[in-house]
Amino acid sequence: MIISGVTVEIVQGDITRQPDLEAIVNAANSSLLGGGGVDGAIHRAAGPELKKASAALAPIGPGQAVITGAFKLANQYIIHCVGPIYGEDKPEADLLASCYINALRLAEENAITSIAFPAISTGVYGYPLAEAAEVVFRTLGQLIPCLKSVKKVRLVLFDKRACDTYLAKLDSLVR
Ligand code: ADP
Repeated sequence: MIISGVTVEIVQGDITRQPDLEAIVNAANSSLLGGGGVDGAIHRAAGPELKKASAALAPIGPGQAVITGAFKLANQYIIHCVGPIYGEDKPEADLLASCYINALRLAEENAITSIAFPAISTGVYGYPLAEAAEVVFRTLGQLIPCLKSVKKVRLVLFDKRACDTYLAKLDSLVR
């Protein structure tokens, strides 16, 4: 799908295996020390140098984002966002939207042309996938027309159910 000259892709896959994109986004926690889920996978793939680089920028709160190199990963950058814990960090939708806003702001500031996002907050942090997808599409719809350097945004969903949920939500929004 192309919106205002920006290609938006929705794929099922592993965010640590997107070598054609300049930046990947991590769904981190405030300590930026690495954790489970996508965070653990990114830290394992990037190697121990990542922990040193990211921990030096901690702590960050829900909705905030910082950028590091990608070390052993094929990408150039990792943008670390802390999503809201559903039911705890409020207002959840605004904080989740801020992750995408701040990640894309950092991407623009670093002249990044392509970026992959996981479904932030939808794992351990408990954000219902369809609800999160709605926030993601609404936020991207507002931001994409303002982007200058970013030309490709890939939404990487780990399993088929998540991918199907995103596609169904997009379908319902453009109908
Ligand atoms: P959070 O704490 O923000 O909820 P999680 O890592 O627990 O973060 O989950 C966020 C989403 O990332 C979930 O939908 C999960 O299925 C997905 N995920 C887990 N591992 C990967 C991976 N390697 N690539 C892409 N997505 C992943």
